[in-house]
Amino acid sequence: MARTENDTWDLASSVGATATMVAAARAIATKADDALIDDPFAEPLVRAVGVDFFTKLASGELRAEDVDVDHASVGMARMTDNMAVRTKFFDEFFAAAVGGGNSADAAASGVRQAVILASGLDSRAYRLAWPAGTTVYEIDQPEVIEFKTRTLADFGAEPTADRRTVAVDLRFDWPSALIAAGFDPSRPTAWSAEGLLGYLPPEAQDKLLDTITELSAVGSRVAVESTPGIDPADHEKAIERMQEAAQQWRNHGFELDFADLIYLGDRNEASAYLADRGWQVSWQSVKQLLSENGLPEITEEDEDVARFGDLQYVTGILGS
Ligand code: SAM
Repeated sequence: MARTENDTWDLASSVGATATMVAAARAIATKADDALIDDPFAEPLVRAVGVDFFTKLASGELRAEDVDVDHASVGMARMTDNMAVRTKFFDEFFAAAVGGGNSADAAASGVRQAVILASGLDSRAYRLAWPAGTTVYEIDQPEVIEFKTRTLADFGAEPTADRRTVAVDLRFDWPSALIAAGFDPSRPTAWSAEGLLGYLPPEAQDKLLDTITELSAVGSRVAVESTPGIDPADHEKAIERMQEAAQQWRNHGFELDFADLIYLGDRNEASAYLADRGWQVSWQSVKQLLSENGLPEITEEDEDVARFGDLQYVTGILGS
């Protein structure tokens, strides 16, 4: 079903199901030989959601290759590799932002406040080694937030930071809800928007980045996955690809049509947009990250249609 201005979802439907899908990919990536990531909560969370198709993928009963079309720019195998490098990228971003590892620069940052926008089934508030005194805010739609909180509590999982949930739609007045939860805009913050921007209309993406900037004290950090706009000439082909993948998934009993969920039109590159607003920005393409991490390269055909290789992973520090 096409998107509407105030649509809502749980983790088995619409945009919410994409959170379960990427968590299934993290579960697969966690079990890979020489795994780049370790997300022990991904598989149990996916099982708890109860979408049979994703449970089978997360548990290994179905292989990503078995559910993909041949040219799988939007398929599960490609997504698994993408989630491996993406998860590693954002894990490293937070570690550096709060002074983890050996980075002298990071140790000086003093960031003790993190905001995970569109947190989905992301378990960073439970699995990263946050320094004492760190507060991690998670924002997502109410049913998504409530499900994860309840399920992880049932597993006996304990947050590794002061975790605070903000159950609100990011198209509405989320800053008030964030501040009501204790967020302090006068202190530097580490923000993440991972797997989010493509689900927002282009103007909502700009507004979100403006709001992050307004709420950021000097020294704040941001990490976003920036989705390229797809050239209108390629829309039909891109939609066709997504529909082929959806048909494959339908054959396995699961209905999710990506083409209905994302906004394909032209949008600002987040890196340039943030740079124009005072952030010192750097970025890498998914192509670079896959290559650096020894994962299969993106074929020209994938790039040709979906501009998949142009997905950017952007980080920024707000100057004075
Ligand atoms: N960041 C998580 C991760 O990487 O595992 C989840 C990514 S998932 C692809 C997209 C997430 O964005 C979902 O959890 C969905 O609920 C959330 N989302 C999308 N649009 C949203 C909105 N307008 N308000 C709140 N959450 C939203």
